[in-house]
Amino acid sequence: MNISQTVLDFKAYVERVNAIRQALYLFSWDMAVGAPKGGTASRAKYVGILSAEEFSMRVSDEMKGFLDALDPCGESLDESTKAMLRICRRDYYTYKKIPVEEMREYSELLPKAQSIWEKARAENDFAAFAPVLDRIIRFQKKFVEYRGYDGHPYNTLLDDYELGMTVETLDAFFKKLKEAIVPLLKRISALDRQKNNAGFIHRHVPIERQQAIARLLMKTIGFDLNRGMLLESAHPFTTNLGKNDVRITTRYHENAFLSSFYSVLHECGHAIYEQNKMDEIADTILDTGVSMGVHESQSRFYENIIGRSEAFWAYIHYGLMEILGDTFKDMSARKLYEAANIAKPSLIRIEADELTYCLHIMVRYEIEKQLFSGDFDVNKLPGVWNAKMKEYLGIEPLTDSEGILQDIHWSDGSFGYFPSYALGNAYAAQIFHVMRRDIPFESCVRTGDFKRIQEWLTETIHRFGSLTTPSDLIENLSGEALNPDYYIEYLTEKFTALYEL
Ligand code: ZN
Repeated sequence: MNISQTVLDFKAYVERVNAIRQALYLFSWDMAVGAPKGGTASRAKYVGILSAEEFSMRVSDEMKGFLDALDPCGESLDESTKAMLRICRRDYYTYKKIPVEEMREYSELLPKAQSIWEKARAENDFAAFAPVLDRIIRFQKKFVEYRGYDGHPYNTLLDDYELGMTVETLDAFFKKLKEAIVPLLKRISALDRQKNNAGFIHRHVPIERQQAIARLLMKTIGFDLNRGMLLESAHPFTTNLGKNDVRITTRYHENAFLSSFYSVLHECGHAIYEQNKMDEIADTILDTGVSMGVHESQSRFYENIIGRSEAFWAYIHYGLMEILGDTFKDMSARKLYEAANIAKPSLIRIEADELTYCLHIMVRYEIEKQLFSGDFDVNKLPGVWNAKMKEYLGIEPLTDSEGILQDIHWSDGSFGYFPSYALGNAYAAQIFHVMRRDIPFESCVRTGDFKRIQEWLTETIHRFGSLTTPSDLIENLSGEALNPDYYIEYLTEKFTALYEL
């Protein structure tokens, strides 16, 4: 057997799989940014066919043939072939167990579910979403049974987003975070001197001005618009069509301009990661971030560690004021910094402050863990949600739109995804700890030298794409495994200073 020919054939085969996947990403991008509603059923049909095609290629006998032929070659293969084999092998043995027909039915259901969720959220009508949510959960539970699991059934889903992640690790991780965050939040809430009188951030800012702010931010931090774009959607997200076509969305609220401000920084963090992978892996299955947790570390890094720092406000203040005009001239950089860091329990996850954010994730984590550990009644979920919000954040939503219906994730079957947000925060703090040893982070931000920060991130994280694994990446970069202590230390230092505790 000619190994180099087999490698070429394997790569050509994987390229075809990847092409179908890109088409599916485009469909899903299109649906989120305003494809006509009337075409939902037709698109669902095409998506169903393409997903089934992609799925059967990943679990085909041909794929098995490549794996069997190349696996014994092990170390003699080049790095990219090894990484592709690792991904394809995992895919093959994981999904081989799910019948193609069921996967097709499930894939057809998801785009419909997304439209139903959007409408239900707009109309505060959980009952309209409940039946389709119930079907999605039942599919996923069945898939977990087919796929098998070690320990908790939810582990199988966690592993999809963060290789090797388990309920056992996360229980300990969240316990540690909760023990640090809740008392810190209590000390802040007890202060007379709350820095919460920041009504000025709710002054009216027309959408055109917010769009100008978005352009300013993208240019400042280095999102390349020649290989990227920004549109609007109900829920901000990033679509990666390879390093040369990375798209992001935001949403504008005329009386809360910081909402779009931070969502743009967040999605730019994802996008800058994708745009700075090495050329050698462009347009292959490795041309994507290594895990959801590491991805979130990059978005959180730009949104919080840079964007919510005092140095960033000092730098961006002038440019921002030029766009906002006279009505905002009483907003000093310091006042904006404080307003962007008000620590206060709130209902909407994506608008939560840095300190309370992980508590929102704990609510979702606890619910998902329960959903996959036994039987459930989907109609009881709003009640469970509200009780958990009360337990973790001390507040309850008045409507399901600002409660259980707020996030898109369950409508596209992304169970196991939410914990990546919390992991991302912890990774980001660990990365930040190492970065500060190498470069003068604060003066870079204060002087607008975002290039230097991005180059450091590219060198240590971005360029590898999926050539590596999340645990190897973090260990190589910091010399140790994920350690939540850095995140706790970061939050404690920042909020102790800010609130003079
Ligand atoms: Zn994100």
